[in-house]
Amino acid sequence: EVRVRFAPSPTGALHIGGVRTALYNYLFAKKQQGKFLLRIEDTDQTRFVPGAEDYIKEALEWIGITPDESPWTEGPHGPYRQSERKPLYMQYAMDLVEKGFAYYAFDTAEELDAMRERLTAARVVSPQYNSITRTQMKNSLTLPEDEVKERLASGEPYVIRLKVPRKEEIRLNDMIRGWVMVHSNTLDDKVLMKSDGMPTYHLANIVDDHLMGITHVIRGEEWLPSAPIHVLLYRYLGWEDSMPQFAHLPLLLKPDGNGKLSKRDADKNGFPIFPMNWTDPRTGDFSQGFKDAGYLPDAFVNFLAFLGWNPGDHREIFSLEELIEAFSVERIGKSGTKFDINKAKWFNEQYLKAKSNHDLAIYLMEDLEKEGIEILQAKAEKIVSIMKERATFPADLWKEGRFLLIAPTEFDEKVAGKKWNDDAVKVLGSYKELLEKFQGEFTPETAKSMLEQAAESNEIKLGKVMQAVRLAITGVGAGPDLMEVFVIIGKDELIKRIDFALN
Ligand code: GLU
Repeated sequence: EVRVRFAPSPTGALHIGGVRTALYNYLFAKKQQGKFLLRIEDTDQTRFVPGAEDYIKEALEWIGITPDESPWTEGPHGPYRQSERKPLYMQYAMDLVEKGFAYYAFDTAEELDAMRERLTAARVVSPQYNSITRTQMKNSLTLPEDEVKERLASGEPYVIRLKVPRKEEIRLNDMIRGWVMVHSNTLDDKVLMKSDGMPTYHLANIVDDHLMGITHVIRGEEWLPSAPIHVLLYRYLGWEDSMPQFAHLPLLLKPDGNGKLSKRDADKNGFPIFPMNWTDPRTGDFSQGFKDAGYLPDAFVNFLAFLGWNPGDHREIFSLEELIEAFSVERIGKSGTKFDINKAKWFNEQYLKAKSNHDLAIYLMEDLEKEGIEILQAKAEKIVSIMKERATFPADLWKEGRFLLIAPTEFDEKVAGKKWNDDAVKVLGSYKELLEKFQGEFTPETAKSMLEQAAESNEIKLGKVMQAVRLAITGVGAGPDLMEVFVIIGKDELIKRIDFALN
């Protein structure tokens, strides 16, 4: 059975890269009738941010992907929060020490700093605790056995480090990048157990993936440098045969393709990269999220799926069910994906247009209610039917269509300057008279034929005054089909507006 996990650390809001990782894991699992797990990786207490876990939960709920096992649903492999699994990890670290694959280290922070300074002075590019430097440091590989025992017995703080072998090619076959080869000389003797008795990410992640029966690890490319460490851990813990397959997802790039997408790009350019609004409890910084910006969850999911994956043909609109059906790791790109907010807007427009007038009318009526305006469902449906072609977000239905319910008191100066003239005054005057006399059913057709009549009787070409007429009635120079607008506004109100514009 396929079992995958999304393993966020509760260190802040989930950004778009994080939700994409969750979505791809979900699609991959569901495609193969497998399980999608969620594990909270909170072993680094110093980076813990209150509220972050709830945020993760709500964000996934909003986009409609529910984990089969998680801290909130429980399951056969719980607990699903690493802090609650703390007592579990030490035995594995001890096992590694006993087999000679890990060792105790007693260096103080000052000693570690001094080592780094020494190496930097000697022009070592990235100073590391490794097979060479460890021989000069205080650890169970350099100290006599008795002394190690004494130090441990006296309660001196220690960490447990992985003993990375010298001169070894470490290979892994990534599902996206193919064979990745790393020389062990470039790797640190990573800390596995910290002095506070908490495991580090590396140890906890591998132990939990093993105990939770994870078959595939799908995560962001920023974790690729850690993967060789993980391969060593699987080998040393004797779990190499059941090691999961890795798939490292391409980076998300800034809109111009130059470098990694960051929260700063989003804040600076006024587009969201978080699923929902987020106020950082440490700094008070606020960032807008897709949900609150008016994105529909299915449009957001569709957009997200295409950030690094494509179905191989030209089809772009996919429901979550259809994404599950179409998804495959083979069609995930190797290179980074540019983040394009216009694409997100395009998806939203498509989903908005596809909604029924009935559903959109409910959005509109909610917005109207906030302003104390009440209208009938039937009227709301008429309004959305002509506004939805031009809307990106549900809120646009009202923002761009206010004139349908509220008479303009101001007129767009720029349009008026160019288009308002005596001809327009004449045509509108005649139109008003025709409207006042009219007894039949006021439809787009009758509205139009009267307007044509008004122009003809003044020997004026209707096309020449059309924009001025629109301006007089709506206050702006562009909008949906004007005759549809007239019918929604209604004959009596139209007469009033012409009066106001002419005076
Ligand atoms: N806790 C890591 C994170 O925050 C998980 C990385 C992984 O999936 O191995 O992304």
